[in-house]
Amino acid sequence: MTIQQNEFTKWYIETIQNADLMDYTPVRGCIAFKPDGYEIWEHIQAEMDYHFKETGHRNAYFPMLIPESFFQKEKDHIEGFSPELPWVTEAAGEQLEERLALRPTSETMIGYLYSNWIKSYRDLPLLLNQWANVFRWEKKTLPFIRTSEFLWQEGHTAHGDEEEARHETLQMLDIYKKVVENLLAIPVFDGTKTESERFAGAIDTFSIEAMMKDGKAVQAGTSHYLGTKFAEAFNIKYLNKNNQHDYVHTTSWGTSTRLIGSVIMVHGDERGLVLPPKIAPTQVVLIPVGPFKKHPEILEKLDDLYKVLKAKGIRVKLDDSDLTPGFKFNKWEQKGASLRVEFGPRDFQNNQVVIKIRDEEEKITVALDRFMDVIEEELKVMQKRLLEKARQFRDANSHVTIDSLQQLQDHITQSKANKNIPGWILAGWCGSNICEQKVKDETKFTSRNIPFNPPIKKSNCIYCGNEAKHTVWFARAY
Ligand code: AMP
Repeated sequence: MTIQQNEFTKWYIETIQNADLMDYTPVRGCIAFKPDGYEIWEHIQAEMDYHFKETGHRNAYFPMLIPESFFQKEKDHIEGFSPELPWVTEAAGEQLEERLALRPTSETMIGYLYSNWIKSYRDLPLLLNQWANVFRWEKKTLPFIRTSEFLWQEGHTAHGDEEEARHETLQMLDIYKKVVENLLAIPVFDGTKTESERFAGAIDTFSIEAMMKDGKAVQAGTSHYLGTKFAEAFNIKYLNKNNQHDYVHTTSWGTSTRLIGSVIMVHGDERGLVLPPKIAPTQVVLIPVGPFKKHPEILEKLDDLYKVLKAKGIRVKLDDSDLTPGFKFNKWEQKGASLRVEFGPRDFQNNQVVIKIRDEEEKITVALDRFMDVIEEELKVMQKRLLEKARQFRDANSHVTIDSLQQLQDHITQSKANKNIPGWILAGWCGSNICEQKVKDETKFTSRNIPFNPPIKKSNCIYCGNEAKHTVWFARAY
């Protein structure tokens, strides 16, 4: 599926609506998650949560309302977030003495509390995570990808020294990469954000970046080393082993319901949602076909198969509604059911079922005695295949030989003329904010990250031609 930008957005909105994942509300940028949309999030949550706990983190919960004075304490943080903050100014009919922000992220509230909770080196490291909703009043919104209220997890940790905190920052980025690749079948580039794209208040921000089917990039997760900035702002000090007071080094890291949008934009096709089986709310749908009403044994057999699949922990549905099979096929393809099992009187006679795998063209006929093995195998194979397809697509659209602004502009013009997507480019950068901004102004390509393992190293800045300090992925981004 090669799609131009406007068509792609239209396709995306139609796909999520036909799949019944969400609905709009009168509050701009605030969407309702319908059960299938929310269930995808639950699968992501479960996997992330498992890895957080494996690495020693625990969940906690912090208030949603944050006093304005907390934001004033860290200058970069308030500067970065103030344009996006919604405020509560009145409660129970009375004006509040101090405005309260709906949290955009919780470094400030957590900084305030950590200054009470951390007293000595024995209290460190403090490794907490919160599952919550946050608010960022975005100007341009797109369901799941960029909303004004979104669901996420935010990890907040405190450490005795820089080395340990930096190790934590990268460890969590690596967990994000593994979960996004293994669970969502989305390949990502991990790397360091440039200064202009850094989190407000961070010393270093690291990200994982994914390519959508229209070639645009999505920042799929971020991990920040905050140094002692928040410790100094909130006076988070501990007594070290030498009986001296030291500031802690903190980190924070987050992934959001944007991942739902990413998975749809990476795997979906013209028939609707395609989901990696590990997160599909429906992994198998059983559909009676042919004149099955005259043959009660058809539904009886499907009922048996349903029970066997359920007992194996497979997420299965039996669609015995009175809609036509064609209508049902279409509906479950739109919803991204991984495998469709068709079964009618002829199949009954031949002791077989017909299976349609969501992302493959041909149907397969399977003997009933191999049913369970084939189902389990195909779900596994599909999961791997989706990652492989996405990797091939990304690699085919990652360009590593564009070395000047002129070449980039020509590439964009040519892609447009050929109805191709421009994809991403790997280019050199001298490190100057001006060059980065110029590339953005003239091409709408922004720096995504400085990859840890670039496929090749670049020697000259794409804008000024001077010696490159970094090799950077540039792309149009959501
Ligand atoms: P941040 O705290 O800014 O580093 O954000 C953490 C992660 O949340 C980002 O990497 C995004 O994946 C996601 N995110 C940021 N803003 C939004 C938004 N408006 N809607 C959905 N997800 C978001």
